[in-house]
Amino acid sequence: MRVVICGAGIAGLTLANRLATSGADTVLLERSPVPRPEGYMIDFFGPGYDTAAAMGLLPALRAVSYDIDEAQLVNEHGRCRARVRPALFAEQGLLDLMRPDLERVLREALPAAVDLRFGSAVCDVADLGDGIRVTLEDGSQVDADLLVGADGLHSTVRRLVFGPDSMFLRYLGFHTAAFTFHDTGIRSAMVGHFCLTDSIDRQVGLYALRDGRIAVLAVHRCPDSTPPDDVRSAIRQAYSGLGWLVPDVLDRCPAEHIYYDQVAQVVMSSWHKGRVVLLGDAGYAVSLIAGQGASLAMAGAYVLADRLHEAESIEEALLDFEAVWRPMAEEKQRKGRAGTRWFLPSSAWQIRVRHVVLRCTRLPFVDHLVATALVGKSSGAILEPDRTRMAKSLRTALAAPTVLYANGFGWLLGRRFLCLTHTGRRSGHRYRTVLEVIGADRGADEYLVIAGFGRSSDWLRNIEAHDDFEVIVGRDRFSAVHRVLSGAEAESAMASYERAHRWIVPLIRRVLTRLLGWRYDSSPAARARLARQLPVVALSPRSPS
Ligand SMILES: Cc1cc2nc3c(=O)[nH]c(=O)nc-3n(C[C@H](O)[C@H](O)[C@H](O)COP(=O)(O)OP(=O)(O)OC[C@H]3O[C@@H](n4cnc5c(N)ncnc54)[C@H](O)[C@@H]3O)c2cc1C
Repeated sequence: MRVVICGAGIAGLTLANRLATSGADTVLLERSPVPRPEGYMIDFFGPGYDTAAAMGLLPALRAVSYDIDEAQLVNEHGRCRARVRPALFAEQGLLDLMRPDLERVLREALPAAVDLRFGSAVCDVADLGDGIRVTLEDGSQVDADLLVGADGLHSTVRRLVFGPDSMFLRYLGFHTAAFTFHDTGIRSAMVGHFCLTDSIDRQVGLYALRDGRIAVLAVHRCPDSTPPDDVRSAIRQAYSGLGWLVPDVLDRCPAEHIYYDQVAQVVMSSWHKGRVVLLGDAGYAVSLIAGQGASLAMAGAYVLADRLHEAESIEEALLDFEAVWRPMAEEKQRKGRAGTRWFLPSSAWQIRVRHVVLRCTRLPFVDHLVATALVGKSSGAILEPDRTRMAKSLRTALAAPTVLYANGFGWLLGRRFLCLTHTGRRSGHRYRTVLEVIGADRGADEYLVIAGFGRSSDWLRNIEAHDDFEVIVGRDRFSAVHRVLSGAEAESAMASYERAHRWIVPLIRRVLTRLLGWRYDSSPAARARLARQLPVVALSPRSPS
């Protein structure tokens, strides 16, 4: 498979890494002639953090990250009025990174096989039916099986293939600016490493960087989404009169390398069309208010690469990607929209409420409530979203039967369930897993179970690694062997199971739809697809040797 990715930002770099690792021919096109130097500090946590861990990038990211224990909200005289702990929003782990540093780590981790081309701006896209032709501004063309638009909030690919920005950009009522400059005086006058003005309708944040620079991040309310022509003057005007160190900061605003944009989300009913798919901000920007755009760009890329690798066809992979990733992106977008008032208070009263809430976050439990309300769940296992979602309910549902089996009462469950005792392939520990028996061939003495998390189901991987596993079903207990059913056998087992449980077929479909990440409707095509995704395994007594 040949894939062209438009945009070597966080999403594009991550996707290129994953695709090339799984053997895809990958071309990564970046408009900028050199890596973009404009940057701002990113709180990096949640699904992106998990992705970085899965890609083995955490050590490199830690090496370039900043230790920011707290942000101080200061008044016009520089006095601290309240404190925010960034770690509040991250249960599993958090890194504070300058965006160019994050991109550099991703770039340095790219496999040599990735064809990364700077100074290559996409300006036209033609649908070839079973492929795509991309034209660059220099007139050259690249053909591929799939085009991924990872080209940010103002995506060219989106405009060319899906429609103008006005159809998809949802303006949140703010403009934002970011720039850096050198100044030791301002740095020593800062009370902490990260300070924010505690102000109404506009806010300036200052980060002290390790190379002596100050990174500035500014946000202000603005009724009109259109950015000004003269960005530097607009910044000076928007933030004048804020007191504290802000006048000096505005004096040092450089003439170039200023990041300036509207704060907006991208809301689309579909992220793919034919052989084109959008990724990261291009398809589902959540905005800096939601605070996880980089994280979702990276994790979304991981999920997309995984689906492209696993699915039978590109079309199937794109459908799967949306089914799995859309609920996550939409939840963060909702939280982002709901967080606008908290993010930038519009009255003195709202500032006071913010102080009270921040004080309360020092109390146990309240911190989690506030964090969840603001940024949504910070899942530690987004890489397998369905697995995460199912895990809690399944674990609860299956805990009770496991206890029954452990205490010799498993027979109470008859032969509808079986208990598999297996050895952890890495830990060597013994585990019990209760599985529903979806069919039994009494003649062959085989019990059929389904691997609900596909090939990566832990119990399946364990029994494939160690064959010393045991089954309890009804009053029988035996040392077992396994075999994975062929596609046709699995389809027929599934059809028999649904026939035998006609009255709960709607429930079965719902559960399978969640597990699979796409709509399971019991049709032959859906059953064939299910059989490819979730192996059906036969367990039978080991014959005496
Ligand atoms: C001020 C600010 C603060 C933020 N803070 C956080 C935070 O704390 N935590 C967090 O997780 N997220 C944060 N975000 C959001 C985060 O930066 C974005 O969500 C993330 O960068 C999106 O990554 P991306 O790869 O999808 O897009 P981008 O980073 O925008 O990358 C797109 C790339 O495509 C290239 N490109 C564009 N057009 C073309 C073309 N025609 N041809 C070729 N290449 C093209 C661009 O040059 C760029 O390199 C913040 C954003 C802003 C603006």
